[in-house]
Amino acid sequence: MTFPLDSDLVREAAPSPNHDARAARTDMILLHYTGMRSAEEALDRLCSPESKVSCHYFVFENGRTVQLVPEGRRAWHAGASSWEGATDINSRSIGIEIVNPGHEFGYRDFPAAQVMAVSALCRDITNRLRIRADRVLAHSDVAPTRKDDPGEKFPWSELAAEGVGLWIEPAPISPGSVLGVGDCGAAVSELQMNLSGYGYDLSPSGNFDAGTQAVVKAFQRHFRPARVDGVADPSTQDTLRRLLAAKAGLASGS
Ligand SMILES: [Zn+2]
Repeated sequence: MTFPLDSDLVREAAPSPNHDARAARTDMILLHYTGMRSAEEALDRLCSPESKVSCHYFVFENGRTVQLVPEGRRAWHAGASSWEGATDINSRSIGIEIVNPGHEFGYRDFPAAQVMAVSALCRDITNRLRIRADRVLAHSDVAPTRKDDPGEKFPWSELAAEGVGLWIEPAPISPGSVLGVGDCGAAVSELQMNLSGYGYDLSPSGNFDAGTQAVVKAFQRHFRPARVDGVADPSTQDTLRRLLAAKAGLASGS
């Protein structure tokens, strides 16, 4: 049993039974890595009724792409998640699984053919569904305490060069005062406000706790991948401020 494919770029279906009705407009794309030893094992799991997980698209390392769930249906890939105050991320997103063993089984570079396929697919989806650039996100962005994928090796800058996602060149790592676990005060509050202002699920408490560290790590994995340590160094803070300004420009249409 199959279904009409949604993208002109995809010609193969591998139908998954794991989906239900959406409860919101589709306005995000969420990128994942499969995090399993082999592509076949990952695809089997996403198509098996017992697993209760799925995604819309699955991209092999050679760029071959299959569709598992119709875009109009709610696939089950995000789990407990939050972005810009919304929590039912499955209802509002397209989920793309990108084959990579992940941090647990030998994290490796994403091959060029795979990156090109993901990039073209995201561009096609954002154009058709009118998804804003800043809403093409990592699973780790919406679930920073639980998830690391697609991780710091995923080349967001290359996607941006193809017009996908919001990206600014990260500030170089340089010496200066840093914020880390245990710090408190106005500077921590400002950092937390900036992170939550961008979309991360974090309430400004003024205390740099484990939750703040997880969000800083998620931010670094996506936007300042040269060092992912959960410490808000000057480069991290500067990159975040400029990204916020870029997002404000997008939202106002300038
Ligand atoms: Zn994921």
